[in-house]
Amino acid sequence: MFCDYHVHTHFSDDSEYIMENVIKDAIAMHMDEICFTDHVDYGIKVDQETLTKKQIIKLSQGHEFAPLNVHYPQYFKEIKRLRKKYSQITIKQGMEFGIQTHTIPLFQKLFNQYDFDFIILSCHQVDDKEFWTQDFQKEKTQQEYNLRYYQEILNVITQYKDYSVLGHLDLIARYDQAGHYPFQNIKSIITEILKIVIQDGKGIEINTSSYRYNLKDLTPSRDILKLYKELGGKIITIGSDTHQKEHLGVYIKETRKELKSLGFEYYCTFKNMKPLFHPL
Ligand SMILES: [Zn+2]
Ligand SMILES: [Zn+2]
Repeated sequence: MFCDYHVHTHFSDDSEYIMENVIKDAIAMHMDEICFTDHVDYGIKVDQETLTKKQIIKLSQGHEFAPLNVHYPQYFKEIKRLRKKYSQITIKQGMEFGIQTHTIPLFQKLFNQYDFDFIILSCHQVDDKEFWTQDFQKEKTQQEYNLRYYQEILNVITQYKDYSVLGHLDLIARYDQAGHYPFQNIKSIITEILKIVIQDGKGIEINTSSYRYNLKDLTPSRDILKLYKELGGKIITIGSDTHQKEHLGVYIKETRKELKSLGFEYYCTFKNMKPLFHPL
């Protein structure tokens, strides 16, 4: 079984990878299953179904891409068409929800409106401030931005339960210009987060983009993965977080070996928001 559970396509505002090409490439790589997880980031991005072309052009001024969420009707229609056309691969419909405390109601509404197999819950912004631009970190100490980031995830998962796994749980480390922040300083808040995840029957993902960002550790770190296991965590998905052809399926087989060496026995796929377990 070879699958990728974190895949962006041209339905994400930061990718131009045509969805049908993703399927063709996945089949060429002998993938058995793929789950699309295009971006929705309320707070900094808007829904586009009701916008005119003019409004979209206006929105894109000053940005590399117009900050738009998935065009939902077109997204589900295309997945349906591809499922019929390419029956040799299992296609799951998911999304990556970049939730912040103040955007929970919008995501709840979206989740209730459509059928999903899988939802990655990610923290991409806090207070509408981005990490990759350092907008969020500036004027905060390393301790402040680390704790604020994990506190935001904790706040969200206390209130919002319609998700499958937490995406790239230690994303903040990727953009930490002050260097490695000791695990001991964040262990207690991460423990709180993982206990809720496990208690709610949710999981975490391993995001293999750590390899292309040249991070020394996995995403999330081996410390977090060990803690998750210690606390009884079992549900793990593996995804490349691809936004382009070169990254599809990359390092997934290697990551399975890593998980095995950390003592895990299974990884998961999802159907109708329920996990299915596969031996590593
Ligand atoms: Zn993400
Ligand atoms: Zn992603």
